[in-house]
Amino acid sequence: MSSVVYRKSLPLRFDVDVFVAGGGPAGLAAALVASRQGCSVFLAEAQSCLGGMGTAGMVPAFMTFDNGVNFLADGIGREIKEALAREKGEDSVIPERCIPAEMLKRVYDRLMLESGVKFLLHTAVIDVIAAGEELQMAVCAAKSGVFAVKARQFIDCSGDGDLAAWAGAPFEKGDAEGNMMPGTLCSLWAGVNVDEFLASGVSPRDKLAQAFADQVFTVNDPHHSGMWRVGKSVTGGNVGHAFGVDATSEESLTEFLLEGRARLPEFERFYREYVPGFEQSELVGSGSLLGIRESRRIMGDYVLGLEDFKRRAVFADEIGRYCYPVDIHPYKPSPETYKAFEQEFHQTLRYAPGESYGIPYRCLTPQKTSNLLVAGRCISCDQKMQGSVRVMPGCFITGQAAGMAAAMCCQNNCHSRALDIKELQQRLREIGAFLPNA
Ligand SMILES: Cc1cc2nc3c(=O)[nH]c(=O)nc-3n(C[C@H](O)[C@H](O)[C@H](O)COP(=O)(O)OP(=O)(O)OC[C@H]3O[C@@H](n4cnc5c(N)ncnc54)[C@H](O)[C@@H]3O)c2cc1C
Repeated sequence: MSSVVYRKSLPLRFDVDVFVAGGGPAGLAAALVASRQGCSVFLAEAQSCLGGMGTAGMVPAFMTFDNGVNFLADGIGREIKEALAREKGEDSVIPERCIPAEMLKRVYDRLMLESGVKFLLHTAVIDVIAAGEELQMAVCAAKSGVFAVKARQFIDCSGDGDLAAWAGAPFEKGDAEGNMMPGTLCSLWAGVNVDEFLASGVSPRDKLAQAFADQVFTVNDPHHSGMWRVGKSVTGGNVGHAFGVDATSEESLTEFLLEGRARLPEFERFYREYVPGFEQSELVGSGSLLGIRESRRIMGDYVLGLEDFKRRAVFADEIGRYCYPVDIHPYKPSPETYKAFEQEFHQTLRYAPGESYGIPYRCLTPQKTSNLLVAGRCISCDQKMQGSVRVMPGCFITGQAAGMAAAMCCQNNCHSRALDIKELQQRLREIGAFLPNA
């Protein structure tokens, strides 16, 4: 590929304590905490709303906040869960962990406005300016053009580890052959008789074999996550897979957004013809953000691994504990890969009530950087552990820890590795974090 040199002086539009890239679950949690600790914070979000996969991506449900005994995503996670419950109202038919995206957007907007965080939508981080291992500025692109933001501490919550990768932190993608979990273009469905569906006791998954025989689908994918109730007669669909998508390539994202939209009518036919309660259902929309389960994993000072999951690890520097099973959607569709997934997800890599693993602070500190933290689905872990810690309550846990750590670095005028871990844990406990071993 040929290249050109492009040199331009940029307006320096903001000078803050903490810069946050991305306003998904991790970025929101990080920004809220850093701001509440007295820091000036700027958050850049590329999409038209806050919330990441849970809003723009239309992921219709939160996975578990607790392990059946302890509320692990306590602090920001609890605050958001309770705020969404109030937004739904007492008489709501929408189950507790299901997400009406429009309500969640309002919840996030309000929390961020109240916190005093400065944030801009439709604003993408496109580069960083660093001196050695120290980041100095983030370069953003928005409607007005390109501008710089100066900060003392940076937090990468882009999900894909954009900022960390551009800052030179090492990262991994996928398994040994580079295979990553497929994405999903989530969707919204109206005209569903949800009560009839629930009363029928029918599992859409059990209807797949017949639909495959009837050639309803272009791809016979046995891994069918399904529909969640997000309104009286509205469901959120987590159906279909984008096999082979790479979220760090716009060519790949474009290809799979188009493919996802082209294939959703197959699911419309499937639900109308095979699933009770969906006879009159209509597909009314799909996510503006393609649902991405996995892309870069930024390598930090510790790489949380499957063995840590198995041994219910405790770490001296843990900033939270979590428990969701290892949920790795197979990278190619087949009865064999789905069977292996089921075995792992439902049996071998799933905890009993009360169990959890620790997440060390060192998973948030990318190598080769001194004032950058990473939170959310791209923290330092192996592929198996990413399959657990990636879900939204897990991202609230790592996000709030990164926000607190960045605030302390600003207050103590120190780099991210020079923090007093005991003090970090103490201050996280003060805002509700579950840290029984600290
Ligand atoms: C199909 C699917 C189903 C899922 N199901 C569930 C589920 O049922 N329950 C659950 O809890 N979790 C689920 N997950 C996982 C969960 O939604 C994500 O892993 C989680 O949202 C990750 O949070 P995050 O903050 O790290 O990143 P994201 O939610 O991806 O948010 C990142 C944000 O950063 C922004 N961004 C990215 N790059 C830039 C940039 N360069 N500049 C500025 N902004 C940028 C994005 O627009 C986005 O808003 C699912 C995921 C998928 C894809």
